[in-house]
Amino acid sequence: MTETLTKLAPFTRLSDRVWRVLGGNPGRFTLQGTNTYLIGTGPRKLLLDCGEGVPDYVPLLEQSLQAISPQAYISDVIISHGHKDHFGGLEGILSTPFFQRKGIRVHKFPISSSSSSCSITNDNITVIDTADLGHLQHFPPDIHVHPLHDQQVFQTEGATLKVLHTPGHTQDHCTFWLEEEQSVFTADCILGQGTAVFEDLSAYLEGLRSILRLHPVRLYPGHGPIVEPALPKIKEYIAHREQREQQVLDFLNKPSTPMEIVQVLYRDYPASLHLPAAHSVLLHLLKLEKDRRVTWDKSNESSPPHGSWKRADLLSKKWHRL
Ligand SMILES: [Zn+2]
Repeated sequence: MTETLTKLAPFTRLSDRVWRVLGGNPGRFTLQGTNTYLIGTGPRKLLLDCGEGVPDYVPLLEQSLQAISPQAYISDVIISHGHKDHFGGLEGILSTPFFQRKGIRVHKFPISSSSSSCSITNDNITVIDTADLGHLQHFPPDIHVHPLHDQQVFQTEGATLKVLHTPGHTQDHCTFWLEEEQSVFTADCILGQGTAVFEDLSAYLEGLRSILRLHPVRLYPGHGPIVEPALPKIKEYIAHREQREQQVLDFLNKPSTPMEIVQVLYRDYPASLHLPAAHSVLLHLLKLEKDRRVTWDKSNESSPPHGSWKRADLLSKKWHRL
């Protein structure tokens, strides 16, 4: 469960066209801190993600850019998704004259507050409101953001970066295909170490499979060291989730609540992790329900209070196989 973190330098050249600048925010969930990437062989660089907003980051970014070339500048900041450890540095960058000499455009995939993880078209499926948008409250409201769209292409000298909308970790999560290196910036979909968390397992797995289909050579993750070769890691991520799914399915030969499942499957983990684990099991159950392989006992249930079920409501339900 515990893995020693590889030491990463604050600033590293990773290829002819990619440099990593660490966000300076190491922690339990951020590993060595958030990776931010400068991309492009010419003076005009794209910046992918910009850390959490710790004061040391902006000076480090400035020094890193100057170390690459005194002419180097950032034209665009692309935010992979709306977690603060990926966009928190925006205000610092945009208020620094050094970066603003040439103006900077900011891009992020739009998010809608009304969407839910399951289709409402079939009333046998539980519609759960998974859009946990609390973190986006911290997104600076006065910054003009250009909406990213799937397959959009950013071009700068030596780098062609294609946007791939891969929701699952969050609804607005994007990964990025670097054509010149046949490689993917995976943000929080695949990490350099440890395992990623997600809000919607069906979407998350589909994202992993779509990255696998690209047959990338290398992964540039949102946290942790680069991953090369890429394919074994992507397959390991998919296999890990499929194995967990099978364990959950096997368990449901007897109707059970998510917590009853956790108490067996996670018995070797500290009790403090059982509630988060139950949420993770619930996401597996919701995916299996969508696949029409499990359901929960709805005989005594009226419709959900606000049009969609909250996760907390569903933790106490008995689930069974179909
Ligand atoms: Zn994230």
